[in-house]
Amino acid sequence: MRIDLHTHSSVSDGTDAPAELVRKAVAVGLDVVALTDHDTFDGLDEAVAEGERLGLHVVRGMELSCSRHGNSVHVLAYGADPASPELAAEMARVRDGRLGRLAGVLRKLAVLGVPVSEAEVMAQVGDSPSVGRPHIADALIKAGHVRDRQEAFDRFLADGGPAHVHRYTIEVDRAIDLMHEAGGLAVIAHPWGRGRERLLPPSVLEALARDHGLDGIEVDHQDHDPDSRRRLRALADRLGLLATGSSDYHGTGKLDHDLGCNTTDPQVFTNMQRYLGGY
Ligand code: AMP
Ligand code: ZN
Ligand code: FE
Ligand code: FE
Repeated sequence: MRIDLHTHSSVSDGTDAPAELVRKAVAVGLDVVALTDHDTFDGLDEAVAEGERLGLHVVRGMELSCSRHGNSVHVLAYGADPASPELAAEMARVRDGRLGRLAGVLRKLAVLGVPVSEAEVMAQVGDSPSVGRPHIADALIKAGHVRDRQEAFDRFLADGGPAHVHRYTIEVDRAIDLMHEAGGLAVIAHPWGRGRERLLPPSVLEALARDHGLDGIEVDHQDHDPDSRRRLRALADRLGLLATGSSDYHGTGKLDHDLGCNTTDPQVFTNMQRYLGGY
């Protein structure tokens, strides 16, 4: 059993349509894949339908943009009901915040000498309801200002970078509560990726587990070095948390994140399924 629990389609900032992503998951020999687009459930029906057609188990997921003390934290929801009103309302607020920050980012990019227009960005966004920095990066590539998404982040768009603008996100503890209200499981994505260990030390993860019933942490992720993975796995064991592994696949939008490059232990997935109900 090969299980990949964190992927993105073109419904957010990945480059494959949901059905295409599912076909690729079959082609690389995965048995289970979760689609976890940023702040939207819109791709799930298409992915699940294609999974049913091809005999691949598609888990209904979503990656919510959260924060702790003003810093970005991502939380994965599995099996949350898209119709749950409070969660849906928060997700709409987060998506509005994505659109709301765009003009500010574009002003900064113009001042930095790499102008792109809102129309150029929206051409990259396409039908996605979730306007992301990777779409702005794609517009910068198209305009010839940078070679790839990574250069756009490194020079301009990364958290704290010269063209970074804050947007509305939801506090991590409230996000976990809303996911639970929606009948879902809450798993912190790449908790120690990109310097987040200072933000989410073991004591904080322990408090989220104790006070909010956090269900799991993503352990095997490309942004974690072997030592971080080892210590996160030990922490998950000690706290009784699910330890997941996944690719965070974005199609051609992210290098070194091939589908199935990290996977989740089948026993861990079996434990998760007890709580996933019909999903
Ligand atoms: P946004 O949703 O607009 O906050 O952008 C988040 C997306 O950008 C996620 O797919 C991240 O993986 C990607 N991202 C965030 N920071 C970086 C970075 N420093 N380098 C490359 N990609 C990044
Ligand atoms: Zn993304
Ligand atoms: Fe993430
Ligand atoms: Fe992700």
